[in-house]
Amino acid sequence: MNTKIHDHIFSHENELKKLLGELVAIPSVMGKSSDNAPFGDEPKNALLHMEKVCREMGFEVTNYENAVLCVDYSRNGAPIELGILAHLDVVPAEGAGWKTDPFELVEKDGVLYGRGVIDDKGPAVAALYALKCIKELEIPLKTGVRLIFGTNEENGSEDLEIYKKHDKFPKNVFTPDGSFPVINIEKGMIRGCFIRNLSERGNIMSMGGGTVINAVPDGASATLQSISREALLEEISRDISDASGVEFTVEQDPDDDRFIDVSAVGKAAHASTPDGGKNALTALVSLINRLFERGKLPLSDCRQRDTLREIEKLFPFGETDGGSLGLKCSDESGALTCVFSKFTMTRRSAVGQFDIRFPTCVTLSEVKEKCRKAFSEHGFEFETTLEDEPHVVPENSDFVKKLLSVYEEIEGERGHCVAIGGGTYVHNIEGGVAFGAERGDTDYHMHGDNEFVTTSELLRDSVLFAEVIVKLCS
Ligand SMILES: [Zn+2]
Repeated sequence: MNTKIHDHIFSHENELKKLLGELVAIPSVMGKSSDNAPFGDEPKNALLHMEKVCREMGFEVTNYENAVLCVDYSRNGAPIELGILAHLDVVPAEGAGWKTDPFELVEKDGVLYGRGVIDDKGPAVAALYALKCIKELEIPLKTGVRLIFGTNEENGSEDLEIYKKHDKFPKNVFTPDGSFPVINIEKGMIRGCFIRNLSERGNIMSMGGGTVINAVPDGASATLQSISREALLEEISRDISDASGVEFTVEQDPDDDRFIDVSAVGKAAHASTPDGGKNALTALVSLINRLFERGKLPLSDCRQRDTLREIEKLFPFGETDGGSLGLKCSDESGALTCVFSKFTMTRRSAVGQFDIRFPTCVTLSEVKEKCRKAFSEHGFEFETTLEDEPHVVPENSDFVKKLLSVYEEIEGERGHCVAIGGGTYVHNIEGGVAFGAERGDTDYHMHGDNEFVTTSELLRDSVLFAEVIVKLCS
């Protein structure tokens, strides 16, 4: 470890926190797009503030359409081969649980609170102070470095599409917008929907569940006709409720006593880690199928019944590996996951949505073909709404090995590569990996209330980034 780097960065703690505070104070949530503010005024304001600060520090700065800011440092016109990609936009901070103003940086007992301190304004500032340190210490570099500050990571990374119109990415790019040590594999993804038209005569008046496509749904409900409250309660107590961890409630429809409302409450989980969830939707499908089977829900038409039976065959309660779609597979990048996440059924139609994350042992087209076959065999039309190949950077590449060795040296623990089901900011950048800024199992409340990072972690991030620059560029 270079003690000069460490001392330089730690001696700039107050400056670093001041800049972070200025950025946190700009509520850079995506807003209405206009001509010179592609993602709204506040993300642009954050970018312009960063631009001003970087110019004052003496860096060469390029602003691409108020969407992306490039901060370059290279000696004697050397080629730029390392990029550090961070983002200045944030998610909203509407939760009632904030104990401090989310748009004011507050430090308490060595912990910094505020929206963006870990995701991703803190790491952005840490990267800037790493580069400033290299510049001020005049550490000789053979190749140059570019900091890339984007403003649309939280809403689809359209900022990087704008960047690509103007420029190429450096050979090696890492983003401190994930976790340490190194995320080198991001699974592929397919999102899609399946549809079946119905006859308008069923006795399920409506049924639905799920609010977003990328999560295990924790709620589902149905309005049923021609069933008594008692019969429904008896069926619930019979088998499903306790065993599944999903709770059902039954109520007479207040407006019309021919109808009974049944709702299910399970447990939400991100679609990339569905094992921790309890799918309320598949539990409700299962319950209604039992009602049909036992003759408790008399049939006015068999199409709804057949639809729910086929859905249960494809997405049985408790299954998260896509086995029933014929998709089950796993390798060192993890197991395939499959979540039935949204559903709407009326008497006219049934429409379901799902989210699949697949490991690197299968291709996008293989997974898609298996889905197509399974859905068509079970009588559904199927289409994808999002298709994404896996992102892989070899563990034994020079870039990854150097990142891990710096991590081991500074953090004093073994570095290793991690595969994840989600996508990071570098998902569509060839050779890009995530390096930081979350550590271990700590829950930094990213996207939640009271988002935090410790001051010492933030300073260490900066040291790590400076050491990586030295290791890769000199
Ligand atoms: Zn982020």
